[in-house]
This record gives sequence, structure tokens and C-alpha cells, in this order.
Amino acid sequence: MNQRDLLVIGGGPAGTATAIVAARAGAKVTLFEKGPHGRDKVCGDGLTPRAVKALDDLGIDLSPAHRTVGVRMIAFGTTRELSWPEGGRFPAHGAVWPRHRFDTHLVDVAIAAGADVRFETEALPELDGDRVIGVRAGGEVFRAPLTVLAAGAQGAAAKILGAERDPDEPFGLAIRAYAPSPRHADRHLEARLSLRDEHGTPVPGYGWLFPAGDGTVNIGVGALSTMKGFKRLNLNTLLDQYRAIERDAWGLGEYLDKPRAWRLPMSCVKRHGPGWLAVGDAAGFVNPMNGEGIDYGLESGMLAAELCLSNPSTAPAVYDRLIGERFDSFLGTGRRFSFIIGHPWLLKPGLRVAVGTQAAADVTLAVMGNLVDSRTPGAAGAVLKLADRTLRAADPLLRRTRAAA
Ligand SMILES: Cc1cc2nc3c(=O)[nH]c(=O)nc-3n(C[C@H](O)[C@H](O)[C@H](O)COP(=O)(O)OP(=O)(O)OC[C@H]3O[C@@H](n4cnc5c(N)ncnc54)[C@H](O)[C@@H]3O)c2cc1C
Repeated sequence: MNQRDLLVIGGGPAGTATAIVAARAGAKVTLFEKGPHGRDKVCGDGLTPRAVKALDDLGIDLSPAHRTVGVRMIAFGTTRELSWPEGGRFPAHGAVWPRHRFDTHLVDVAIAAGADVRFETEALPELDGDRVIGVRAGGEVFRAPLTVLAAGAQGAAAKILGAERDPDEPFGLAIRAYAPSPRHADRHLEARLSLRDEHGTPVPGYGWLFPAGDGTVNIGVGALSTMKGFKRLNLNTLLDQYRAIERDAWGLGEYLDKPRAWRLPMSCVKRHGPGWLAVGDAAGFVNPMNGEGIDYGLESGMLAAELCLSNPSTAPAVYDRLIGERFDSFLGTGRRFSFIIGHPWLLKPGLRVAVGTQAAADVTLAVMGNLVDSRTPGAAGAVLKLADRTLRAADPLLRRTRAAA
């Protein structure tokens, strides 16, 4: 009988964090991953201090990753070298860990903890009325009191559950490649915030160079769907333009692989129901201000597992409330912010303020990285609180006046 305590669909950071916590506590967990063992994920590979904290909480050894001390922000000829904030809830360092190795490490930790992991196995929710009773995978039905959807950007499994992206909310698209660079061991992530597309339209997003410490850098660009002309944006061209800007400064070699693009889901109309809940990208937990989602995937996965261990039948509703308290306000502010920067005539002055002085850029980094919350004292906390209140009030106007796609 394929009866389990917990079933997990998807073996990225969110699904493996769920499986690790549950399996370590002795639960009978099966995780289904449609890719092979060691599958890659299109990503910038950047771990913010928030992600490092989540990995510490999960007991993951970070020594294989390349440690970072901050971010170099570049906009309109101004370069600000910023340190990760100190003295808060998060460590003052981040990391870069190429996803191919990072995700393999996490899934191996889950297996060592006792999780049964089925690779190259697509799983789809199995319903009895509106209740998820388990999954159908590899021609078999597996049953459990709770199924966790950790399948990343919404696809077939999400469709069955109605856990789809809200069409009225923004989302992101990003592309990345790897290239050799003599600066591969740089300790700063680099982000160029003032990019223009091939038609000269300012791009709400950024180009990045994230040093991996292994002879290579991860180079990529991302944009928000609130951009004017988003539908005709050619990410390959934008990446090539960005690479041309940075080639000499970073001594960039040819791409080591074909650039690959993927979606950044930033909303979800439904993230729980009877017998199931969604974590990570499947729940739309990607920060609209910078496109990072690994930390939210880890945090939501750990919370889901803890709630399942204490009571699987109440877990979906309790999870929805607790994760909402943790993320909804910040991610909502981020989505509203993305409508503002979608306007070319607001993006430029906004960026000038954001990196205008070292102090302003420090606040920008802390706010964008979600390294503060509304209780945080000091300038960054105050800025976030003010932004939250103002953007909430301006929400209807922002949506009415969004830049045309
Ligand atoms: C170009 C780009 C750059 C990014 N850069 C960063 C960054 O630098 N830092 C950061 O924090 N975030 C970044 N992100 C976001 C980050 O990649 C995601 O937030 C993160 O991967 C979410 O983890 P997850 O576990 O929810 O989903 P995923 O990592 O997408 O994992 C989901 C897994 O589920 C599997 N799956 C899907 N459907 C099924 C099914 N039916 N059955 C079985 N398996 C299934 C998939 O094969 C996949 O392995 C970036 C995203 C993109 C696109």
C-alpha cells in the first residue's frame, strides 16, 4: 500500500526543505522530481543573507558555496559597493552556489534523512471531490494526509489545483548563462540597475554578474512584466547587450552553455486547500524587487513540514495564515513597486534616488533584499513602512495607469 505521512511534488529548494524537516522527524515522506538526479535549474544562483539564515536553520553546511560580502549596485554611471547589513536577524554574508550543485546537495541531504526520492517521475495531484488524497505518479497512486506542491513556476500540477498565477499581478522573466572570468572569486554580487532594451526603453529589472568562485560567473538579465513593451522584449538580445557592456571589466569569455530563460511567478490565486498546500515558486513567493525566491522556498518548505508534523489536517489553513503573515505584506508592496518602475519616466528618477548616496543605497539593498520587516528600527524599516502605506493607498491608481505591455 502506497501510504505515506507526506508527499512532495518537486525537488527544488522548497520541496527538499520540506522533505528534510519531515524525514528528520521520522515521517514517511516521498518526494517526486520529474528531472533526473542532479537536474539543473535556471537561476542566478545568488543566496541572500536571508537564504543563508534559512540554510543555517536547516543545518546545511555552506562551505561548498562561494561566500559573498555584499552587492555592487551600478546605475547611471554611479557605482556603490555595499555590504550586506549587519546586526539584524540575518547574517552579514550571502553566497553563490550554482543550482546544479546546490539542489543536488539538498536532495542528497533529504535522502540521507530518510526521504524516499523518486527521480524522473512526474506526479500529479489525485483528488477525491475537492480534497487531495495523494498523487498519481509512475502509474501508481500514493496516498497521504498532506501533499505539498513544490513544483516551481506554475504548470500541470498547479492547474489541477487551481493554484495558478493571478493574471492581474506582475511576473518576471529572466535569462542566464555561465562564462569564465578572472573575477570569478569576487566577493560582491554585481547588479546593473539601468538597462535599456534594443528600442531604448528602460527595463524594470537588472543585469547581474554573480561570481561562483569556481572559475565562472553567472551572468543574466531579468525584467518585470510591468515594463512598457514587455511582450516584444527579447531576453537573448538584452543579455548580449549587457554582456557587451561588462565584457572588458570582467574579462568575460564565451558563454559556456546556451543562455536559458525561465519564469519568475510573483502571485498565486490559491495556495492551499483540503489535503494540500503550495510552497516556494508554486505559491508565487518570488520577491518582485529583485527576483529572488530561494529563501522563501526554503522558509515556506520548512514551515509546511513543521505544520504537517504537528497536525496534517489543520496544516493547510494554518500554513496559509502563518505564511501570509510572514510574506504577504512585503510581496504585495513589491508588486505595487513593480507597477511604478514599469513607467520609464518614474524608473529613472527612482533609481537616481535609490543609489544617489551611499546611505540611500544601503537602505535600497536592505529593503530590496527583504532583510528588514515592518518592525525593524532604523532608516530601512521606516522606508519599508512608508512604502507599504503609500503604495497600498496608491494601489488602484497604480493598476489603472500601468505601463501598456
Ligand atoms: C533566471 C533566474 C534567475 C534567478 N536568480 C535567483 C537568485 O539569484 N537567487 C534566488 O534566490 N532566486 C533566484 N531565482 C528564483 C529561484 O530560481 C526560484 O525562486 C527557486 O528555484 C524556487 O524554488 P522551488 O523549489 O520553489 O522551485 P524549483 O527550483 O523550480 O523546483 C521545482 C521542481 O519541481 C519539479 N517539478 C515540476 N512539476 C513537477 C511534477 N508535476 N512532478 C514532479 N516534479 C515536478 C521541477 O522539475 C523542479 O525541479 C531566479 C529565477 C530565474 C528564472
